[in-house]
Amino acid sequence: VFISFEGIDGSGKSTQVRRLADHLQARGLRVRLTREPGGSPGAEDIRKLVLEGAGDRWSPETEILLFTAARRDHMERVILPALAAGEVVICDRFADSTRMYQGLASAEMRALVDQLHDLMIGREPDLTLLIDMDPEVGLARALARQGGEERFEGRGIEWQRRMRAGFLDLAEAHPDRIRVVDGAGEIDAVAGQIATLTDAALT
Ligand code: ATP
Ligand code: C5P
Repeated sequence: VFISFEGIDGSGKSTQVRRLADHLQARGLRVRLTREPGGSPGAEDIRKLVLEGAGDRWSPETEILLFTAARRDHMERVILPALAAGEVVICDRFADSTRMYQGLASAEMRALVDQLHDLMIGREPDLTLLIDMDPEVGLARALARQGGEERFEGRGIEWQRRMRAGFLDLAEAHPDRIRVVDGAGEIDAVAGQIATLTDAALT
């Protein structure tokens, strides 16, 4: 089973992927926790190239190619082998993040993201948990966190609002795959919602 987490910066994805992994392990399942951009040695190198570069280092098209190359490597070397071995794969961000962060720029960019996905990735998660979050709260949480070395941090509140709306539209378009979780509560309350949704999807 392949599960992805999506949501705007600071929505609690990294916190909640670990909580879900603990929950599923307690149920006796073998879990492989991973993340994007990155998740394999090669893809982590590409992550550094994209996230630590100056904002104008890559054209938007090249950036999509780099994210797709990273995802291809991550799929080949980590996700598909783990699924074949019967593990539950939990991935902190996947293709929906590229559809939003790179694809929302224009209809042409979104088409490019989708074409490259069809050509090179060709698989969606079985379940996507979208942590919905007020952009002001998400931004405050993301900025308060240690080590904001990456250029994408601080893209601002308007950006976060667009991404949130885009994610909610995506969830509406794919109701069978994407489940929306309210990220506003305490960590335990959010984890409880996620465990319930995941248990239902796994049975
Ligand atoms: P990003 O996409 O920017 O990496 P994220 O979605 O992975 O962010 P986290 O790193 O899990 O988010 O959370 C951001 C910050 O908010 C962390 O400092 C985390 O401890 C805190 N946090 C997470 N969930 C909650 C919650 N439910 N209530 C309060 N604080 C939270
Ligand atoms: O989720 P994580 O903190 O690892 O993401 C790192 C940064 O990369 C975030 O600021 C996120 O907004 C950005 N990102 C992006 N495009 C993607 C995936 C992540 O701009 N496709």
